[in-house]
Amino acid sequence: MKPEQLLKPAPAGLYCPAGDFYIDPVRPVARALITHGHSDHARAGHGAVLATRETLDIMEIRYGEDFCGTSQAAAFGERIDIGGVTVSFHPAGHVLGSAQIAVEKDGLRIVASGDYKRGADPTCAAYEPVPCDVFITEATFGLPVFHHPEPKAEMGKLLTSLKQFPERSHLVGAYSLGKSQRVIRLLRDCGYDAPIYIHGSLARLCDYYVGRGIDLGDLRPATTEKSKPADYRGAVIVGPPSAFEGRWARRFSEPLISFASGWMMVRQRAKQGGVELPLVISDHCDWPELTETIRELAPSQVWVTHGREEALVRWCELAGVPARPLHLVGYEDEGEGEGEGEGD
Ligand SMILES: [Zn+2]
Repeated sequence: MKPEQLLKPAPAGLYCPAGDFYIDPVRPVARALITHGHSDHARAGHGAVLATRETLDIMEIRYGEDFCGTSQAAAFGERIDIGGVTVSFHPAGHVLGSAQIAVEKDGLRIVASGDYKRGADPTCAAYEPVPCDVFITEATFGLPVFHHPEPKAEMGKLLTSLKQFPERSHLVGAYSLGKSQRVIRLLRDCGYDAPIYIHGSLARLCDYYVGRGIDLGDLRPATTEKSKPADYRGAVIVGPPSAFEGRWARRFSEPLISFASGWMMVRQRAKQGGVELPLVISDHCDWPELTETIRELAPSQVWVTHGREEALVRWCELAGVPARPLHLVGYEDEGEGEGEGEGD
């Protein structure tokens, strides 16, 4: 069997004809396998959905309990048969519940990694390498210029700023699923134990993370209606970047705008967004992680999905690994989109 017969790009997403299912389809389909809860991968309206327990719960939190017809939870490593095709889910290290999906038939194994990262993240299970014939990788930060620094060192910049400007409210922009909980956990791991205030849109997801055993410390709602700006003097307030453009953010005392994102490596982006304190914290692989992962797995082929496909395809070819871009559409260039692209 050729890999293209097992899994192929189609308008709705990656399609497996033998099992009649899609992976992360961008439009409603009869059967979907979902890698993780970010809105460009997990959409509402599918017939049957197979995903990890956490991803299903996150979809329900975001879309309501009727987000799909029927759902089935896949445990990590469990082998599930769909029409003679074996599928299994493996940790991707991206956000809580995030998985790579292995698809196997007649001795051929393709791994669709979804979004993934290799760096330590105490808010989700660590990426596990899955040997495969074809490795499908994202390339969000697929250019040699992208090197993500140590997240704790980035957090140190925020702690230094809090000491330097004790009168200013520090507003930290972070996407609502994954990044905001990671930022909060990182602050705790750096010894910050004061209350952290969160925008209302983060509350349910933060509660969910806490319910899954991820301690986020003392979280309080950042409600500007019932409180005075002075109440937030010197405090850390975490919210989705989109909230910082509205009235909500201007009510705080001398707000200092920070943003935790892999894109903060690009100075121009920070400047355009009016970000005073950029924090380079990413939930995606940087260039060394992407290339080291491909070296480690040594697949016979690499397929590259969203992001900067061309540079990574070229690198693979120079490394002697046949590679091609899949040109899948519908996955945001994360951080560009308004609320859609997230988890950068
Ligand atoms: Zn994602």
